Amino acid sequence: MTSSVNLEIFSEVPLAVGGFSGFSGGGRRQQRGKGSNLRIRVQLTLEEIVKGVEKKIKVKRKVQAPGVSYTTCSTCKGNGQVMRVTNTILGRMQSASTCPACGGTGQSISSRPPGTDANGMLQTEETVSIKIPAGVEEGMQLKVSGKGNAAAGNGISGDLLVLIEEKVHDKFVREGNHLHHDLYISISEATLGVSKDISLLEGKVRIKLESGIQSGKTLRLRGKGVPDLNGYGSGDLLVHVNVWTPRVLSREQKQFFQKMLEDENFKPNPEKSDKSFFEKVKEMFA
Ligand SMILES: [Zn+2]
Repeated sequence: MTSSVNLEIFSEVPLAVGGFSGFSGGGRRQQRGKGSNLRIRVQLTLEEIVKGVEKKIKVKRKVQAPGVSYTTCSTCKGNGQVMRVTNTILGRMQSASTCPACGGTGQSISSRPPGTDANGMLQTEETVSIKIPAGVEEGMQLKVSGKGNAAAGNGISGDLLVLIEEKVHDKFVREGNHLHHDLYISISEATLGVSKDISLLEGKVRIKLESGIQSGKTLRLRGKGVPDLNGYGSGDLLVHVNVWTPRVLSREQKQFFQKMLEDENFKPNPEKSDKSFFEKVKEMFA
């Protein structure tokens, strides 16, 4: 009720049969029907992914209507299977197959209230609470057992499959459990050094940039990324420093920079420690 979640049920397969053999050893081959799975998409913000979140989602699911009664299937006598005899070149062959009348459950409906479907099922809307752990990512599917469609008779309910969708964030780009952030500083700040506050997904952090910092430098803040889904710590936040160059200058500003054109101290003189972009990329993939 409280959250605004995109809910979309985009697949409803007919009552599935099989998977479970209800009884073993007794010779009865009756199967318990299984309700179909339901699929929904849930859109999460990066903030929700970092903390983990509980979502309450309205799900339209089929449940067995009250007042439905069943009798033993007359076609298979409750066995759930029928014997079929086929003539082959090797002679007559007998094979067992799922009862077409009851779908293998061994039961058929004897009475059902009005408004129910042929299986005695009612469509209902239920609010399901889903705990989404921190660290999930786009395309992952979570399974909520038993919250799909219920099955007729003594069957078991299907599952609710929750497909995770990740909203694009305006400040951070996710790469696995690492986050990338572009930081823009002025030429003056780069030259003189500066302290900058960066708003994180949770809280903020102050970083100190040394005087003479180069554009393209990357600062790695360990553990400030996305928590690992399996609990193996957190990824890092990679802050990419960009020196912003003004496009329009006043007359004085223009004169200042013109004076600096011939200044030896302003001429690029990269040191070994000023790694090139290519070296940094190489390092990142090492
Ligand atoms: Zn049957």
